[in-house]
Amino acid sequence: MSNLKIKFAELIRQFNKYELEYEANVLEVLRSGWYINGNQLKEFEKQFSEVHGVEGCVGVNSGFDALNLTVRALGISEGDEVIVPVNTFVATALAVTENGAKPVYVDVDETYNIDVDKIEEKITNKTKAIIGVHLYGAPCDMDGLKKIADKYGLYLVEDCAQAHGAIYNDHLVGTIGDVGCFSFYPMKPVGAFGDAGAIISNDVEIVGKIEKLRNYGSQIKYHHDIKGINSRLDEIQAAILKINLKYMNDGNNERKQIARKYIEGIKNPLINLPESELECDNVYHIFPIRTKNRDELQVYLEKNGIQTQIHYPIPCHLQECYKDLNYKIGDFPIAETYACEELSLPIYVGLSDEEISYIVEKINLFLVG
Ligand SMILES: *Cc1c(COP(=O)(O)O)cnc(C)c1O
Repeated sequence: MSNLKIKFAELIRQFNKYELEYEANVLEVLRSGWYINGNQLKEFEKQFSEVHGVEGCVGVNSGFDALNLTVRALGISEGDEVIVPVNTFVATALAVTENGAKPVYVDVDETYNIDVDKIEEKITNKTKAIIGVHLYGAPCDMDGLKKIADKYGLYLVEDCAQAHGAIYNDHLVGTIGDVGCFSFYPMKPVGAFGDAGAIISNDVEIVGKIEKLRNYGSQIKYHHDIKGINSRLDEIQAAILKINLKYMNDGNNERKQIARKYIEGIKNPLINLPESELECDNVYHIFPIRTKNRDELQVYLEKNGIQTQIHYPIPCHLQECYKDLNYKIGDFPIAETYACEELSLPIYVGLSDEEISYIVEKINLFLVG
């Protein structure tokens, strides 16, 4: 087989697929003369609520702000603690510290998601919430999290930034906890062509509060009830998101098929393939494999024209910005091991069968020498 060049991500392939629709929607906004807080946002929020069957959706500026404003709306601040998985993108933890509260980390298990059995020992009288993250597109153990949240009277927030459209026990992620937080960063399962995010909830009080917080704490112009910020989702991004929401399941199905080809095709004793939980529908935002020879494998694939990434090379507790929390190496052995062993393969809309077969073939030829 001839040498191919395969990038880790190629958003242009999705753009090319729906180009005419994007152009039509964006031009409509440009020609309307109305660029923020308009009908595109209202329509997108309505569609996103309807898809999820929830009371409300609030569009915000990013996935980070979806989490940040959720933490704020729940009244969590200095002196409070929030349970967070240690293996996640750092934004989950930053949303807690942005509000002056403390992230209390919990190690993960072989699903890469939070190990529910290790949560209760971390709960104190300061604990106010648990943030469950559906990492890499795989729903975390929401039944387990809900049981603990109910037992201790904690809020349960879902970080769905990597799992739009994933289903856990017949429920879409984001609809199980008190609030679901989404990122529409371009590469996410539903992405904008810029920054955007949203929250969904059945609690109309929380929805109303976040609606105010994103708009300087105001619902009536120049009347500021609470101290808010500017975190608006603009009309051009909302117009693009309406299209990408429509094709969410198509994209998810395409990545699931790629994942199946990897799982069926990769047969190399050095490689660990991802394990999916029963009862959970993984949308494979990321396809994580693991090997003790991760760095060698990454260099080998790069030499063969295959770009990969690592999610994540440093767990949250060892990040420089969190040295004040005084965690050390050894505190979360599973996450630390995964940080040294994980490698993410290309998985995206438009990845061809030829490219998938090429990646499988090269991985199966990988030897340690
Ligand atoms: C991407 C991501 C975020 C942050 O989203 P942004 O839109 O980049 O601010 C938060 N949590 C997780 C798990 C993410 O992957």
